[in-house]
Amino acid sequence: MLDLHVHLLGHNDREANRENIRAFLDEATRRGLKEIGFADHDYYWDQMNFPLILEVARDYPNLAVRIGFEAEYRPHEEERIKNLINQFPFDFVIGSVHEFDGWIFDIPEEEHMHRKKDVDDFYARYFEVVTLAAKSGLFTTIGHLDLIKVFGARPGKDILTLADEALTAVAEQGLVLEVNTNGRYKPVQEFYPERRLMEEIQRRGIGFTLGSDAHCAENVGRDLDEVSLLLRQIGVQSVVGFAKFDKVSYSLD
Ligand SMILES: [Zn+2]
Ligand SMILES: [Zn+2]
Repeated sequence: MLDLHVHLLGHNDREANRENIRAFLDEATRRGLKEIGFADHDYYWDQMNFPLILEVARDYPNLAVRIGFEAEYRPHEEERIKNLINQFPFDFVIGSVHEFDGWIFDIPEEEHMHRKKDVDDFYARYFEVVTLAAKSGLFTTIGHLDLIKVFGARPGKDILTLADEALTAVAEQGLVLEVNTNGRYKPVQEFYPERRLMEEIQRRGIGFTLGSDAHCAENVGRDLDEVSLLLRQIGVQSVVGFAKFDKVSYSLD
C-alpha cells in the first residue's frame, strides 16, 4: 500500500533519468501501491533530481509520489543534514545509522568484526546513536531500527532494554518507525525491526511506515503485503505516509 524507502540511484549505479523513474513508478503501480517515497542516500546528493521525479509523476495521478532522502546520521553532522533538508520542500526524511565511531558496520567487509567485537557493547553504542538521531529533531522517520543485527550477531541483553531509550526518544519526538523488508535478504534473514520490537512499538503507540529499501525497480514494494498482515496481527490498524512532513494515515483494512 505504501513504500517510503526506495533508492532510485541504487548504489549510485543508475541515473535519475525519466526511464529509470518510470520503472520505479510502474512497479509501484503494478503492486497496487498508493504512495511511493524516493529516499536516496545523502552521499549521492549531486546525482539527485527531485524536479524530474515530480514531472514524471504527473503521468501517475493515482500514485502519491513523495520526495525524501535517507540521511546518514552522525552526531557531529546535524548542521550538514539541516542544510540539506533546507534545500528542497521534502515530504519526509529518514534518519539512518549505518556507521558509528568511524565503524561502517553494515558492509560485507565488516562482517567478521561482528564476531570479534563485544556484541552487547556495539548494540548499546548503536542504539545510543539512534537515540541521538531521534532527538535531533531533523527527521520524520528512523530507518531500519535494528540494522545492527544485519549479520546475525545477537546480544546477551534483552533487545527491549537495549532499544528502550531510542524508543522513548522516537515516541517523544512523534517520529515513525519503518518496517524495512530488506533485512530478509541480508545474512540475518529477517525484517527490521524484529517482531518483539514491532510489538513494543505498537504498545507505545508509535506509528509505523513501510519500506522495501529497494535499490532497483523490481524490488519496489517487496514483501510489504506480508508486513501489512503481520502488523494487523499485532493490532496495528494503520500505517503512515508523509506529505511535506505531515502524516498521512492509511488504514490496513
Ligand atoms: Zn539504510
Ligand atoms: Zn536505504
